[in-house]
Amino acid sequence: MHTPGSRLSGFFRVLNNIQRRDDLTALAQITALGFRAEDVRHIILTPLDFDHAGGLTDFPQARLHLLQQEVDTSHRRHSWLSRERYRPGQWGGIGQGETYPPQGETWFGFKAVNRLRALPPEILLVPLAGHTPGHAGIAIRLSDGWLLHGGDAWFYRGEMRQLTRHCTPGLRFYQWMMGMDNPARRHNQQRLRELSCQHGGEITFFCSHDARELAGLQSNAPLR
Ligand SMILES: [Zn+2]
Repeated sequence: MHTPGSRLSGFFRVLNNIQRRDDLTALAQITALGFRAEDVRHIILTPLDFDHAGGLTDFPQARLHLLQQEVDTSHRRHSWLSRERYRPGQWGGIGQGETYPPQGETWFGFKAVNRLRALPPEILLVPLAGHTPGHAGIAIRLSDGWLLHGGDAWFYRGEMRQLTRHCTPGLRFYQWMMGMDNPARRHNQQRLRELSCQHGGEITFFCSHDARELAGLQSNAPLR
């Protein structure tokens, strides 16, 4: 939060027109809810990309949870784009991490699902490779169904809840550009789309980057 300029790549700052808004940091939003940074004890990551990891150092006590493959990929930073997207300055000083292997239970047909150490069994890490090899979603069992945070497995509300994919051209391009394994990304997105049609009454789907999906949840009227 305090040194944003040194953490983001110039490429993505320009491409995404990233603006500094102190009131939108995770820390500011959690503070607005009446909590302190110390109250955040666990953070579950979908990818470790710059737009997901930027606030981690505001929560030095928190334990991170993510797939081991995401850690491995982020450390390799083998291409120009991977060096732009994975920014060690955002997470390099964070020591406490719980990582998970590519094996585990099955959740609605999705394999290698892990329960998370020191967290309730209602929270599951669901591997959804494509955007990055170690990208994962987070499923949470509630009293009346499931929440699925799909991370960056889709970007636009029209990609779920209907059998035919609807996405803006810009977001189609951005997903392709950011996809480290595009066949896997398309495959997993299609499986999620089918799941959202078959079990939409039981599972509430939302991703990282659709403001209207988020607004629906905030107003307790999720998109169906
Ligand atoms: Zn993202």
